[in-house]
Amino acid sequence: MRLRKIANAENILKNNSQYVKLVPQEFKGKWKAFFNNSNPIHIEVGMGKGQFIINMAKNYPEINYIGIEVVQSVMVRSVEKLKEAKLQNVILVCIDANFLNDVFENGEVERIYLNFSDPWPKKRHEKRRLTHHTFLSIFKEILLVDGEIHFKTDNQKLFEYSIISMSHFNMEFNYISLDLHKSNFEKNIMTEYEERFHSQGQRIYRMEANFK
Ligand code: SAM
Repeated sequence: MRLRKIANAENILKNNSQYVKLVPQEFKGKWKAFFNNSNPIHIEVGMGKGQFIINMAKNYPEINYIGIEVVQSVMVRSVEKLKEAKLQNVILVCIDANFLNDVFENGEVERIYLNFSDPWPKKRHEKRRLTHHTFLSIFKEILLVDGEIHFKTDNQKLFEYSIISMSHFNMEFNYISLDLHKSNFEKNIMTEYEERFHSQGQRIYRMEANFK
């Protein structure tokens, strides 16, 4: 995500601990207690500036949302949005997705959203793609049986790669759209990237999948 680096981002995040957890490991296995209810937990990995997860939280108060983002300067933007939104059912976590096992107990999460994940087109960077099998094995552990991954992208090559990677991982697909905005999917909430690509006339790909 292209964004000016915020010099004191870490301090800003530390001073907003009611919105963002910098040491989320202490909540592992206790997220429902944290939210003080037994509602399902949905996470977005690589949430960027937070538009999607905050709007999801507004629309679905019966779900607990956790937004994951590794870049602190980007996270500051989400904190600003979340402050204005005044929601009880969303919290942000600043961590690399490689360490999600340290943050969530096995089966603690019911749904994972991957929206416009960085495509990392070079072969030598394949391991950084969030649908690489190393991430899929982490997602499989933290997801409840039958929990789903919902994935959107404008990038055809990343979409194809992800379908193949997930198929090799023995996942099954419950929904695939090769042109989301011309499909009959009615519940779409746009992300920042999606708004930009859609306004440029770019096609958006979407799928829902689960581990067998
Ligand atoms: N989901 C947002 C959207 O659709 O507008 C942001 C998309 S942006 C292209 C991808 C985001 O994923 C960036 O903010 C990046 O920092 C974050 N990201 C990439 N790899 C990550 C990782 N391993 N763990 C957590 N966040 C990651």
